[in-house]
Order: sequence, then C-alpha cells, then structure tokens
Amino acid sequence: MSGQQKYSHLLQPLDLGFTQLRNRVIMGSMHTGLEEVSMERQAAFFARRAEGGVGLIITGGIATSPEGGLAPGSSGMFSEKDAEHHSIITRAVHEAGGKIAMQALHAGRQSFHPLMLAPSAKQSPIYPFPPKAMTEEDVERELYNWGNACHLAQQAGYDGVEIMGSEGYLLNQFLTTRGNERDDEWGGSYENRMRYPLEVVRRVRAATGPNFIIVYRLSMMDLVPDGQSFDEVITFAKRLEQAGVNIINTGIGWHEAKIPTIATMVPRAAFAWVTRKVKEAVNIPVSASNRINMPSVAEDIIARGDADMVSMARPMLADPDWVKKAEADLEQEINTCIACNQACLDHTFQLRLSSCLVNPQACYETELVYVKTDKPKSIAIVGAGPAGMSFATVAAQRGHAVTLFDADTKIGGQFNIAKQIPGKEEFHETLRYYDVMLKKHGVKLSLGKRVDAHDLAAFDEVVLATGIVPRHLDIEGLDHPKVLSYLDVLRDKKVVGKKVAIVGAGGIGVDTAEYLTHDPHHKPASLDIPTFLKEWGIDPELKARGGIEGVQEQVDPSPREVYLLQRKTKKITGPGKTTGWIHREALLKKKVNLMTGVSYRKIDDAGLHISIGDKNMVLNVDNVIICAGQEPNRELQEGLASMGKHVHLIGGADFAAELDAKRAIDQGARLAAGI
Ligand code: FAD
Ligand code: NAP
Ligand code: SF4
Repeated sequence: MSGQQKYSHLLQPLDLGFTQLRNRVIMGSMHTGLEEVSMERQAAFFARRAEGGVGLIITGGIATSPEGGLAPGSSGMFSEKDAEHHSIITRAVHEAGGKIAMQALHAGRQSFHPLMLAPSAKQSPIYPFPPKAMTEEDVERELYNWGNACHLAQQAGYDGVEIMGSEGYLLNQFLTTRGNERDDEWGGSYENRMRYPLEVVRRVRAATGPNFIIVYRLSMMDLVPDGQSFDEVITFAKRLEQAGVNIINTGIGWHEAKIPTIATMVPRAAFAWVTRKVKEAVNIPVSASNRINMPSVAEDIIARGDADMVSMARPMLADPDWVKKAEADLEQEINTCIACNQACLDHTFQLRLSSCLVNPQACYETELVYVKTDKPKSIAIVGAGPAGMSFATVAAQRGHAVTLFDADTKIGGQFNIAKQIPGKEEFHETLRYYDVMLKKHGVKLSLGKRVDAHDLAAFDEVVLATGIVPRHLDIEGLDHPKVLSYLDVLRDKKVVGKKVAIVGAGGIGVDTAEYLTHDPHHKPASLDIPTFLKEWGIDPELKARGGIEGVQEQVDPSPREVYLLQRKTKKITGPGKTTGWIHREALLKKKVNLMTGVSYRKIDDAGLHISIGDKNMVLNVDNVIICAGQEPNRELQEGLASMGKHVHLIGGADFAAELDAKRAIDQGARLAAGI
C-alpha cells in the first residue's frame, strides 16, 4: 500500500480558493529563540521543514508592536526594514517548495516586560509585572499595529499570518472577564468583548487583501476560571468566519491554566473532540492540535471528521522529514516527539535556544551537520542507552563501521525502565526509532554480553556509553531486607508493600512515586482520554465555563501510602521547568506525602527513622526505596587505559550529575559528527 493511500486524508491538498496547500499538515508556531538570534538560522530551520513536506509552516510569535512582545527586545514586525529581514526566511521556504505564515502576536499581560498593555490592569498570576489598562488611544494604536505588522508580513513574502488569539494572550484576554473588566464598548457583554479581536481580523484583512491566508488561533477551551463558555466560543468562531478568516486553528488552555495540555502525560489527540464541535459550527477549514505526533493519529483525526487539518509543532522539531516519511509509508522511521518539553519549551522558558531531546540538530541546522566520512573507521561503542544509540546511529550514517555492545539483551539502557512509568509511554517510540535506524545504517549489534577491555582491543576507536550505577548511601540499616533500590522496583519487579518511603525526590524518585501510586490494572490517564479528563476536572460535555468551572476531579486512589523525601528544603517538583508542576499536582492528587528538609537517621524493623528540624519521627513503612542519584559507570576505562587504548566517554559514563537523555543523545550525536 502506498503512503498516499495509507494517509489519504492527511496528505490530501487543501484548496483555499486563491491558493492551495499541498497537504493537511500545519507546522504549529513555536518560539525557538532563533527569532532573536539570526534570520539565516531561522531560514535554514524553516527551509529544512519545507523540504520535509509540511503543508503550511507558521513561524514563532512575532510581535505586532513593541509593547506586544514576549520580553524586551522580542522579535517584531514594525518596519519595512523588519520586512526585508524576514524575506530571507520566506525566500528560503519558497525555494524549498513550502508555504509559510507569520504568527502575529500581542502578548498583552503575558509578557516579561514592564511596558505591557492589557484590556484591564489585572496581573497574570505567572508573569512578573502588572499590565497597564489600555486607553482608547492604546486600543486604536494597537489595532493599527496589527494591520501594519500583517501588511509588512505580506510585503516580506509570507503566504499568510496566524493571528494569535489563544493561550491567554491579548485577544484571548479581551474575550474573557478574567482579563477584561472594561465598561466601555470593548468590555462588558460578550458582544463587546468580541469586538477587539474581530476588529483585529478586519484590520488585517483590509491591510492584506483577499488573497492572503489568515489563520486564527482560537482558544476553544480556556481551562481557567472566568474563561469563555463553549457557546461563546462557537458564537465567536462563526463571527471569525464572517470577518474573513480562512482557517481556524485550535488553542487549548491559557499559560496560567493548572491543567497539562501538551506534556507527555496528556493522551494523544486529547482535545480533538473539542475541535470537532467548532468544525461542526463553521464552513471554513478547522485544524486540530495538541499531542498529535504520528501520522496514524493525524490521519484518524481527519478521517473521522474531527478536523480538516492537523497542527503539529514539536513533532517538526523532532523530525523535519515527518511528512515525507508519512508519504513514503515509513512511519517506523519517524523520530517521534515524546512531548517531554525538555529541550524545547523548557529552554524557551529559561530564555535559551530551543532544540529537541531526540533530535539535537533541531535549531542547529547550520552547526550540527552529519557529513559522510572519507576515512571510515571501525568503532566499538559499549552501552546501548540513549548516548550509545545516538552515537552509533550518526557514526554509522556517516559511513563508519560501528559495533554496538550491551550487556542487556535489548537496546535502550535506562529508557527501558523509564518507559514503564505511567505517562512516559512515548519513550517506546524512541526505542522503536533507534531500533529501526541502527538496522537501516548497518550498525552491528552485540547484545546480551558484558564486554571487557579485551573484547575491544581490535577497534580503531572505543566509545564508552556505559551509563551509571546508583549512588551508594551511608545510612545505618541500609542492608535491612525492607530496603530496595529503584532498580529492584522498576527493573526487577520486586514486591513492594502497602506503605513505602522513597529516599530522594529527583527525577527518578518522582517517577517511582508515580509508578507506585498507580494501579497496574487500570489504564493510566496518559493512555485514556476520558480518564485524563476526569483526573484533571475537564468537562467532556463542554457545559462548564472555561471547560472546568464547577467540575470535580475524580482520581483513582493510590494502591499504597507513599512518602517522598528529600534533604533540601525546596518544594518537591519533577525536574522539568514546564512539567515539574504537573508531577507535583499528580502526586498530590494521589495523596503522596511530600517531605522536605529531611535527615535520615537509620532503617530498622520499625521503619525509616528521620528528623525534620529538631523533630524526630519514624515512618512505619514496609519498604524504603533508594532513589538518591547516580555515579558514572567507568568500569572498563582502567583496563582500556592499561592496554594503551584511548577512549571517549559519553552520557552517564562521562558525567552523571544532572544527566538526562537530552544530554546523552546530544553528546553522542556531537561526538559522532566529528569522529
Ligand atoms: P544508560 O541509559 O544508563 O545506558 C548504559 C548502557 O550501558 C546500559 O544499557 C548498560 O547495560 C550498558 N553497559 C554498561 N556496562 C556495560 C558493559 N561492560 N558491557 C556492555 N554493556 C554495558 N531522562 C530524561 O531525559 N527524561 C526523562 O523523562 C527520564 N526519565 C527517566 C525515568 C527513569 C525511571 C529513569 C531510570 C531514567 C530516566 N531518565 C530520563 C534518565 C535517562 O534515561 C538517562 O539519563 C539516560 O538513559 C542516560 O543514557 P546513557 O546512554 O548515558 O546510559
Ligand atoms: P537526581 O535528580 O540527582 O536526584 C537525586 C535525589 O537524591 C535528590 O532528591 C537528592 O536530594 C537525593 N540525594 C542525593 N544524594 C543523597 C544522599 N547522599 N543521601 C540521601 N539523598 C540524596 O537523580 P535521580 O533521581 O537518580 O535521576 C537521575 C538523572 O535522571 C537525573 O539527572 C534526572 O534529571 C534524570 N531524570 C530525568 C527525568 C525527567 O523527567 N526529566 C526523570 C527521571 C530522571 P537531597 O540531596 O535534597 O536529598
Ligand atoms: Fe518533543 Fe521533547 Fe523534542 Fe520538545 S524536546 S520536540 S517535547 S521530543
């Protein structure tokens, strides 16, 4: 069966009358940080995705006015000079056969600069400055700026614009009483609250003429108190159509919403059912978004009539050839976005350049290049965890003869442990990808044998990616039978009692708590949309204001009582900047006891003896599980050195502190690119 037949709905062109899109795939907007770095690098980044077959690319948010930027100095479209700079991007995309729209953004109160403007002077709970309420003069000037910025975008060669109307930005603020308490013609009734965003659409259409794509990113569920009702959303969608919008794209949840909307614990296509209700109400194409990462998921959404198109942002970081691979029926070769946020959104919120955990070339298209070698070498790599798999794939792709050893009978290293944590099922995809790629590039696999230095004598180069060993602690009673390590629990499946204390609340401690608080006989929320909606209190009937007001969360109780402990006094969260709070919320829902500032005294039949401040206590638990960090495993290094063999260390074998798969994969790829 050809790719064209298999994904016939997804790969079908879309006729907008004055222009055609080659398929139904939108690359959704992402602020990568390249916007503030270089037009040339942005051009390379977008052109690579155009080569990969995306139907319509949307840029990161470009401010319509200096006040509307995300931070001081944010990239904006204010002048003809800006337009000229942007033409570097549009030319590159058009030469690569693609189409591109600029996302026009006014952040309103969701910004990191003190000049921000909003409908009312109400500060967002997650941004540092209070906004100034817009005067009538501000309203008029900013309306002009919307039209001007989009006109300049057209002049720069963009095929269209996406008007950013969701995620709690300015236009979304105008629509809700949460952001808009005005009593003039721009506030009060919903009719009045719609006036500003609709006027923006009219100004943009007037400034750009009929033959220019206008996508409107519509907040279909605000997921905050005092958000829009769904009836209001539908009314507004119909008015957007009348005002001349060509495509409605889905937005779900404000940034300040306390519900995960795109992280890996959100089920795939979790909100497509909401998009469907909007699609049923209008006659223009509507695009679904959020946690769509594989062609089969995207195809199903369109085939069952939930949407006309799909918008995917992070999956295009993970694999620029996503569409091409779907066309060629090579879904198995897709490097799947695992929705971890670790190298993309986490970086954005730390004002660092984005990339991708599974694809370190993302946003480094001009820097990290895999060139065929003219000096092929025989290379041994020990350890088939993320670092080793990444190195082996890139080195073999470049033409080296690579042998990959692992003591385990399967590839993956710690990812085989991570993939069983509820909410980390996407890790299976990374293992599938590497399995396919190692075979495709002819890597010789030697599994199920612990290697020693002598096995490696004949190779030109030796790379150690042997990972880590759990940190050894010095607590009295550590040899007590009730003590287990995370490997005993997660890898070796030792029986765990009903009351448990976890020592260490880093990434693995938090994941172990997640694992132990889920009933293995129930599908986790990450794999079941109705369970996800129940656990996070989202109304499947779409009757609750904002999608949440008055809805009770319903969470499966934990099968055991869990204490999660750390010595530091800071709040326990997961490790990710943008996902840590979700882990914390999830553990609290399961009634995990989060204890900080703990000193460990001893472990005995009575349980775990601890102190917090000057208070001593005994946690009367059946098991104490140690998740207290890791040390590098360099057991082979000495033997190889005594044979006079130089070795390269990558991943945990190199440095275990703050090790994660992002660093392991990146380090493997970079070493392989230069060897
Ligand atoms: P490893 O994955 O440890 O692989 C080392 C490999 O070397 C192993 O397969 C081992 O068998 C092999 N080996 C060692 N010695 C020999 C020898 N002598 N001969 C042959 N083979 C040998 N990271 C993230 O970024 N995000 C997450 O969400 C995340 N979640 C996690 C959840 C859990 C429960 C765990 C345990 C880890 C998680 N991690 C996560 C961490 C991530 O898995 C590690 O950072 C990553 O696996 C390190 O990669 P590595 O290649 O350096 O080593
Ligand atoms: P970690 O994140 O370094 O956490 C170790 C924990 O052990 C901390 O809570 C630490 O807190 C405690 N600890 C350290 N030394 C101790 C000691 N001597 N005695 C008692 N407690 C001690 O390590 P990890 O949880 O083992 O994870 C390993 C790596 O995998 C990490 O780098 C992590 O980021 C990564 N990972 C990432 C994710 C993810 O979702 N991104 C998930 C899992 C793992 P105190 O010192 O305050 O007690
Ligand atoms: Fe997806 Fe993670 Fe890559 Fe971001 S870093 S694009 S979430 S795989």
